[in-house]
Amino acid sequence: MVLKNLKMTLKRSIGGVEVTRLYPEKIMDLPDAERGVHVLDIRKCIGCGACARICPNDCIKLVPYARGNPLKNKKQQYPQIDYGRCMFCGLCVDDCPANCLTMSKVFEIAGWERDDIVYGPEDIAVGQYNDQELAELAEEARKAEEEKKRKAAEAAKAKKAKAAKAKAAEEGEKGSGEKTAKKKAE
Ligand code: SF4
Ligand code: SF4
Repeated sequence: MVLKNLKMTLKRSIGGVEVTRLYPEKIMDLPDAERGVHVLDIRKCIGCGACARICPNDCIKLVPYARGNPLKNKKQQYPQIDYGRCMFCGLCVDDCPANCLTMSKVFEIAGWERDDIVYGPEDIAVGQYNDQELAELAEEARKAEEEKKRKAAEAAKAKKAKAAKAKAAEEGEKGSGEKTAKKKAE
């Protein structure tokens, strides 16, 4: 048996047959379904927190980040993932209503400190807006907010006017009723 194994080893070493993968120089092809480090499309995330709620290991927390879309995510809160707890189940991805969370083929996660493996939006986000785009979006958000307030004020005014009109009509009806009753009594 020993001789057999020795023979096989010799055969493989002479024949140049690769028996182990040369990691990390050579990384094997990973399947498309590989679940590695998350990728967050920052332009689509609405900050709903569904990913954090569904996570069975409680490893997602929403944290502030200023490079997303304030029109879609008013609070500018985005997922931060603790890879010390993540089991790569993919539930957060499946539950995201905006389809902005995916998982990449990146699997090498290491660090000297515990916090080194807690990835914030700045580590997992793609599509971050630049300063000029952010200024334009902030202006758009401000205008949208003003328009919303204007519409709300208009609606409140219309409601008030309608109530006043109804009250006047009610009082008018009551007044004419009283007059008729008085005439009848005379
Ligand atoms: S990644 Fe998806 S589920 Fe998580 S906060 Fe953003 S939109 Fe919501
Ligand atoms: S992959 Fe699973 S364990 Fe990891 S953050 Fe998403 S839901 Fe949580």
